[in-house]
Amino acid sequence: MYLAWAADGAVAGWMAGAVLRGAVFRLSVPAGAPDAVCPRCAAPLRPWAASRCGHCGHTLGLPAALELATAAVLALLFGRLGGHPVTLAFGFLGAVGVALAAIDIRVQRLPDRLTLPAYPVLIALLAAAALTGHDIGALVRALLGGLALAAGYLLLGVARPGHLGGGDIKLAGLVGLVLGWLGWPAVLSGAVLGFLLAAVASLMLLAARRITMRSAISFGPFLLGGALLVILAGGPSGSHLP
Ligand SMILES: [Zn+2]
Repeated sequence: MYLAWAADGAVAGWMAGAVLRGAVFRLSVPAGAPDAVCPRCAAPLRPWAASRCGHCGHTLGLPAALELATAAVLALLFGRLGGHPVTLAFGFLGAVGVALAAIDIRVQRLPDRLTLPAYPVLIALLAAAALTGHDIGALVRALLGGLALAAGYLLLGVARPGHLGGGDIKLAGLVGLVLGWLGWPAVLSGAVLGFLLAAVASLMLLAARRITMRSAISFGPFLLGGALLVILAGGPSGSHLP
């Protein structure tokens, strides 16, 4: 662990969480429903970077919750990666991932308006890291990893409709990009770990009678959590991390 970098990550994560809190609140609505409005004055909310209603100043969402979660994830990621050129790219997906997980837990969807714009940004950050670190091979592997994981989830979604949604498939592509950078074993273990975590959580919820056999649980948080564990574990041998 690079402690100074972990502290930097916590600060960056807190700020990213503050920027994303309004978007998480606004997009936490069922698919097809209009964006959430201010719960106090019903004014429409600004698209980005607003944690308060621009009209009446009402605080949107639970104060500090998203900030704390994002700070924790980015502290872990920055602490693990240190000054490696790829830290910014991984940190970006970490922050977007926390926001997506928060929405998925609340309304069981991963909105396109967060996943799709994340693609060009993440690919640009990975490309910058590849140029800085003179590691074009890692960039090619990342692109193939994103393609492979998205294709794998697409096949699973077609094979078992109702379990994986389009949002899960688009998120899988993003996760595959960062895991692909680390190497093919990381892509595979990340994918397996996501399903394993989801299965364990489902069994625990079933045992606690919180869900039934017919319920679908949000998959996004487990996919992201599995990827985070793979990154923190340093990736399997041969991965391109310090
Ligand atoms: Zn308002």
